Parts: sequence; structure tokens; C-alpha cells
Amino acid sequence: MRQQGFTTRILHADRRGGTEHGAVHKPIHTSSQYAYSDARELAAVFQGKPGFSYARQGTPTTAALEAKLTQMENARASIVFSTGMAVLAALFTTLLKSGDHLISSRYIFGNTNSLFGSLNALGIEVTLVDATDVQSVADAVTEKTKMIFVESIANPGTQVADLMGIGELAKEKGLIYVLDSTLTSPYLLQGQSVGASLVMHSLSKHIAGHAQALGGVLIDTGLFDWSRYDNILPIYRKGDSAGWGLTQIKKKGLRDMGATLAAEPAHRIAVGAETLALRLEKACSNALALAQHLEAHPLVQAVYYPGLVGHQQHDRAKGLFGNRFGTLLSLEPQPHVDCFELLNALDVVILATHVGDTRTLALPIAHTIYHEMGAAQRELMGIADNLIRVSVGIEDCDDLLDDFDQAFAKLTA
Ligand SMILES: *Cc1c(COP(=O)(O)O)cnc(C)c1O
Repeated sequence: MRQQGFTTRILHADRRGGTEHGAVHKPIHTSSQYAYSDARELAAVFQGKPGFSYARQGTPTTAALEAKLTQMENARASIVFSTGMAVLAALFTTLLKSGDHLISSRYIFGNTNSLFGSLNALGIEVTLVDATDVQSVADAVTEKTKMIFVESIANPGTQVADLMGIGELAKEKGLIYVLDSTLTSPYLLQGQSVGASLVMHSLSKHIAGHAQALGGVLIDTGLFDWSRYDNILPIYRKGDSAGWGLTQIKKKGLRDMGATLAAEPAHRIAVGAETLALRLEKACSNALALAQHLEAHPLVQAVYYPGLVGHQQHDRAKGLFGNRFGTLLSLEPQPHVDCFELLNALDVVILATHVGDTRTLALPIAHTIYHEMGAAQRELMGIADNLIRVSVGIEDCDDLLDDFDQAFAKLTA
């Protein structure tokens, strides 16, 4: 039978997972503890039988969200966390150990880059490479390499890594391939189509969409053979090996470290996720129109957006994402334009950090998220001093184009 569409499956996931009192939406379960009338049953849950014991390891509400996210990626299983950064911290510290080597794209989110500093201090070596070229990833592989990490569309430069090529390389070398797909969301790209082992999303961004909850998810696509991974602890080498990786991350990263997603934000994220496809269609089309409009403006020196024909990885992006190129663009005004003055002249566009919101947001990147790392590192990552990041929302398109026009006009008046 034909598989139902993306939105249909999300909308009906709670109902098909079994309703409580006929409630169409999964209720918000606030209980911290889950009781059993048979102590043997309680012990069985502790020993791995599906069920709930203490909310640090999940509730029926977070489990319902996980079921939806697994469906969105057509994957094997998911674990939700309190934020996207909590996912990354748990993932790297539970699957890697001192002496291991991680290869990462150098075009990554600033906080992820900062997290790599902490990994270095724990004895995990991180090599940053230009992942738009699979050869530079291949050249960095050593016998200590365990994992490759890339973002699908890089925040904020919008570089598109050679996702397919890296998938083949990871398979050939037996490496874990982690894809941070936050900027694409499962609507534009499903991680298993490029051979990813694990897919990470910040749920705070597109999937929630309303910027009223933080969360993160780690999804196992089922493609990696965990039985061959020597960092799986003996206690988790039990039963079907397909579950070993997520079990270790859940026990060590969620149970022991405790960055749990509470039921209330899980509910808010699930409500937002219902409209992911509708929002992305509109926001991607707005982003393309705004990118083309800005590119043609005389006060703009450069626009970075994978949908522009002149973008370095435009053809690759087209092959991977179809005709939707994401909702994030970056622009460099002409050198004589003060990026702060330009931002201050905007009216509809909100000056705030965050991406994937229904509202359009902009901020000066070098002076905010990338401030702490210093000028040398920014240059390596291709972040110019006047770079402005714009996360495009679902406003009526002309209002966004007009807003930039009036802002530029104010500067030249
Ligand atoms: C925001 C973001 C994260 C971190 O997610 P939080 O939910 O804010 O912790 C990670 N990766 C990318 C690409 C992001 O944009």
C-alpha cells in the first residue's frame, strides 16, 4: 500500500498510537513516577521492558513526540532531550572516549564549535575540515577516527556539505555519520537518504516553529551496525544490536546526565510539528524571493542562500532538497554600509537570535553568536564582520521585501 503523506502521518500519529479516553491529542503527563501493582513488572521495566519508571527517562508525552519524529525521518527510533545542545553533548560524550578522533565540518553552529573545545579537554581530538569536498573529509580519516559530523545546510554560511559522498565514505570506513539536519528539517531531507547513521534536530527551530519551547532529538536511521562499534559498553550489548547505540545514549546521556525534555514543552513542540510542511513551503518560498531581491540591491555585496544560481553548492542543494532551499540566508552589505544601522532601520524584521521561527529574525553574526571565538577562527569559518543572518518566516512576502527596501532607503537618505 502507498505510504501516507508527511503531514497526514504526523496529524494522526497520536491517535494511531492508542488514545486515552478518546483524546485525539496525547495528554501532558506531569507525573514524575510510574507505579506498578506487580513488583516484578517494575523490575522488568528497569531491565529494559518498554514502559515508564521515572520521568527523567521519559513520559508517555515525550514518547508520543518521539514516535512522530521517528515517522518524520522514516527511521528506527528517537530520543528527545531538553535542547539541541543537550543532544550533541550527550551524543559525543557517550559514544566517544579519550583517544578517539572526530571529524567535523568547519562550517558549523557557533555553540557546537565551542562544545568541541570541551571535547578536546576530555582527550577527544576534533579535526575541522571543509566538508563541501568529500576528499578533505577522507584525507582527515585516521585509525582513531570514530565519527563524522556535518550540518545539512550550515548555519550561518549556508554551505551544503557533500552529504552523499560523506555517506559513502562513512559506510566504506565503518564510521558513525552524524547529520545535524536542523536547518533542513525532516521535510526537506531525510537523513537515511544520504546514508546518515544518526540525525539530530534542534526541535526549538523549524519543528516547533513557534519559538515557545526548547528541545532536541537524536534519531537512529537504522543504517549503522552497532555490533561492530567497540565503544558500546558490555552491559548494553544485549538483545537486538540495532538498539544498542540509542540505548547507551539514553542510559548514559539522558538517565545519568539528566537533560530531559519535560512533558509541557514536548506537547508544545508536537503541536507546532503538525504544521511543519505548511510553514516550510511558505518560508522557503519567501527566503528565495528575499535572497533574489537582496542580491539585486546595489547596497548588498553578497548573499548566501543555496537557492541562488550563483551559490557554490546550488546544484547539489537542488539534487538533495528539490526546489526548497531552506529558510536561512546571510548577507554582506557593501563595506560602507554599517550593518548595525541597517538592522536598526528594519521594522517588520525582528532583531533577535534564533532560526526557524514563523517570524523573520535577523542579527549581526560576528558580534553575537561568533563573538567569543575571536577573529582568526571567524575567518577560518568564513564569517565576515558585517555578515547579517536572516531567518525567514512566513510573513506575506512583499512585506519582507519592502522592509529591506525602506531600511536601505533610510540609510541613503
Ligand atoms: C540552534 C541549533 C542547535 C542547538 O539547538 P538548541 O535547541 O538551541 O540547543 C544546533 N545546531 C544548529 C544547526 C542550530 O541551529
